[in-house]
Amino acid sequence: MANFLQPPVVNFACTCGILNPITKLYFCRHCLKLRCGFCVCHEVDSYFCSYCHENIPSSEARHKRNRCGSCFDCPSCQHTLSLRQTTVAVQKKPDEPATEQPAEEEDDGKEKTKKMYHVSCFACRWTSRDAGIPDQTIVSGSWPEMEYANETRFNSLLDYYQAVVIQEKQEKQDYWRRKTTKQHKFPSITDRTGLTVSIIRRQMGWSDKTPPKMKPSAINPSIATDEIEELPADIFTEELDLRNITTIKQRHNQPSDQPEHVSKLFPQHKLLWIKRSLRCRQCEHNVIKPEYHPGSIKYRIQLFASYHVPDVRLVSCESLKPGQTCFAILKLANPTMHDMTITIMDLPTELEESLLIEEMKKGYERQVSISSTPSFGSSLSRQASLTEEPRFVKNKATANIILPDSSFALNHRDDVAEFDECVQVHREEPNFVVWRKSNKVSIKLGFTPDADLAPGDDVVVGFTMQYTYVNTFCNSPDKKEPQKHALTSRVYVKVGQIPGN
Ligand SMILES: [Zn+2]
Ligand SMILES: [Zn+2]
Ligand SMILES: [Zn+2]
Ligand SMILES: [Zn+2]
Repeated sequence: MANFLQPPVVNFACTCGILNPITKLYFCRHCLKLRCGFCVCHEVDSYFCSYCHENIPSSEARHKRNRCGSCFDCPSCQHTLSLRQTTVAVQKKPDEPATEQPAEEEDDGKEKTKKMYHVSCFACRWTSRDAGIPDQTIVSGSWPEMEYANETRFNSLLDYYQAVVIQEKQEKQDYWRRKTTKQHKFPSITDRTGLTVSIIRRQMGWSDKTPPKMKPSAINPSIATDEIEELPADIFTEELDLRNITTIKQRHNQPSDQPEHVSKLFPQHKLLWIKRSLRCRQCEHNVIKPEYHPGSIKYRIQLFASYHVPDVRLVSCESLKPGQTCFAILKLANPTMHDMTITIMDLPTELEESLLIEEMKKGYERQVSISSTPSFGSSLSRQASLTEEPRFVKNKATANIILPDSSFALNHRDDVAEFDECVQVHREEPNFVVWRKSNKVSIKLGFTPDADLAPGDDVVVGFTMQYTYVNTFCNSPDKKEPQKHALTSRVYVKVGQIPGN
């Protein structure tokens, strides 16, 4: 269970040992494991403008510095600026021919009106006229771009560092090419004859494929100076009008010049938004993939943990006393289309947990060694090396749980069952099941808070929940039938605090 603005009551331990509410976890159906935000690789799928919903290719987005070309943010309050239209009267000269501008003839035939456009903020009433930008005559007017003093310097620095990065990359690749030994079992004809690909290419009259070495162009290094401008003479005598001074937020929003006076505020191109897809770091499969269209909020792949792992909620708990047995009511819900069998078990001991971590670390190392051998610099080896280090769960349970004496069933989700009038089939229920309806079950769980808890201390009940999971997705062609698995999740429930005296 997750609360807004409050710490979560029920936490699930990710495979890496970090605690998260179920709403922040993903479920990889290839590894059949929970994955948190650190255990998935975040990738940018597409760029789009949140205001005009235009999809922008990544190369164009980079060129435009991740900003939309046609939408603007208010420099004063950061709302989106809207286009406003005004009609202005233009004096018509007698010899002037009729223009293409939409014009309305007035009664006397001497005056005509012209449509002019400016941008204005509906939230704070800031308009482009405040910045001294003249009104435009066409709707999609090309608004003047602000010139910045340091623009050329920054561009040359950017070019220089890009060249440095490319050079380093080339050197690294050359080094690996020389270092890696031939992996083919059978030498190719070029190996035997001592011919290299580049020699053959030259003999055939083709251009040599190896790109020329990039050398970063020299730039003038910056030099420190102690000559700085004097402060204006009236800075200590003139009274300050705070209404004319920009706020820190306004300055940071315009990072290229960071104006001090409100008259220097300039409409800013709207920042682009992205759609992210998430990939399991261990098996490289997608766990989240959104639809490409910016207007769509649907997903092509959505493996949120709350769609696959039973949800645990705390319903009630009686008053807690250290060292005395108490009972709490937990509600479990099955989100899947298959029946589940739930078994509540003890948490792994410290020794078991350390063994688990060791095993996971070995698994990662094996994967890194496999992925880094065939091709250097592949995306696989880069991502695998970033895998989150497994760790012990930080939030230790502070109560001893009394394990239920048997497993219990959790019916599959049926959206229509809520409206069905037919009575549910009565079955032999274990005595700890207190309530059952469609895919939900409430159970009474006994536990003993640690005797050394002081008033105000949190009581955390931890258990391992084993549940059966039917995997309808088959990644190997020989397994056509849905596979049934018994999976486990470590659950930590904060049942309450030891009351004060
Ligand atoms: Zn994790
Ligand atoms: Zn836009
Ligand atoms: Zn505004
Ligand atoms: Zn996976």
